[in-house]
Amino acid sequence: MAILITGGCGYIGSHTCIELLKAGQDIVVLDNYYNAKPEALRRVQELAGKEFPFYECDIRDADGLRRIFAAHKIDAVIHFAGLKAVGESVQKPLEYYDNNVGGTVTLCQVMAEMGCKRIVFSSSATVYGMNNPSPLQEDMPTGAVTNPYGRTKYVIEEILKDVCVSDPDWTVVLLRYFNPIGAHESGRIGEDPNGIPNNLMPYISQVAIGRLPRLSIFGDDYDTPDGTGVRDYIHVVDLAVGHVKAVDFALKHTGAEVFNLGTGTGYSVLDLVKAFQDANGVEVPYTIAPRRAGDIATCYSDPSKAERLLGWKAAHDVVDMCRDSWRWQSQNPQGYGD
Ligand code: NAD
Ligand code: UDP
Repeated sequence: MAILITGGCGYIGSHTCIELLKAGQDIVVLDNYYNAKPEALRRVQELAGKEFPFYECDIRDADGLRRIFAAHKIDAVIHFAGLKAVGESVQKPLEYYDNNVGGTVTLCQVMAEMGCKRIVFSSSATVYGMNNPSPLQEDMPTGAVTNPYGRTKYVIEEILKDVCVSDPDWTVVLLRYFNPIGAHESGRIGEDPNGIPNNLMPYISQVAIGRLPRLSIFGDDYDTPDGTGVRDYIHVVDLAVGHVKAVDFALKHTGAEVFNLGTGTGYSVLDLVKAFQDANGVEVPYTIAPRRAGDIATCYSDPSKAERLLGWKAAHDVVDMCRDSWRWQSQNPQGYGD
């Protein structure tokens, strides 16, 4: 019995591998290294003190997937593999639909063929779109998304729900992540974005380490307490533990279920900058810039369903998140290197 992790070399996947191994699960990992380096999994094995099978494989490669399912008894799949840059998705929509939507369809076809019908999927709070008020709850309407990346998440959610309707043997757990930040407390694994980061926390830490001159804060005239955007930042290790609970749930239930994974608390951009400076004793110079297209003022979760049905609750606070992000960045100024 093993859990297959697609995209397991990536930021959230690598942290989830560690938590699954800690919980005593056997894992099999696949990744095509599009946005990851082998060093990440080497460090996961070192931290966990365990080895596990890894396949360099693309989720769009049905024969490659078949070989993995034939070689291992896979009970469930945690599906992280996908492209995730919002701006890039606007430039390259077909790549995003092909990789994220096409890849998920191929994965599910092979799963059904090989008799594995349990999947935990990495969705996103972005599916709630522009029109729902926070705290966001799982039964609010979805689909008013503002970019192709978000649309892939929405469409995949709908496809997976349709699969459950068509065949009652399927289990689908849709996890809507809020804003994952932080890193493993060892400082050995963390987020290693290619090029200039799009997301706030990697940008802050690269400014703090001197790789970038200053942060641009996208708008200070939102209808929020200090005018800057408010988000629900969640420690990546809490998110990883959420997957351990979600896979346990998937092994015991059938049908489709949706869960928010967030803390339920919103922090503004200025709150996060200040928390990072205070937690780490470093300066983060910033300027106020125009709003970024497609951003909303406020987005935070109601995480109570995950607590009720999964027995999961975020355990780390914003100081832990800032401290662990900085430990990773300062110990690995060039990420995993070349
Ligand atoms: P990541 O880029 O670090 O990890 C994704 C991994 O998937 C990478 O290792 C990449 O090489 C791999 N991959 C991409 N396409 C593949 C393919 N066709 N076949 C095999 N492997 C492939 O991203 P992450 O931050 O760890 O995110 C994991 C998942 O969570 C993604 O689906 C992402 O959309 C979703 N998500 C992320 C966030 C976030 O802020 N990080 C928020 C919400 C949802
Ligand atoms: N943000 C910012 N400067 C940056 C990156 C992000 O001010 O360089 C703001 C962004 O406008 C939003 C918040 O930080 O209010 C979180 O953005 P991020 O891209 O990390 O996540 P999102 O919630 O957009 O997915």
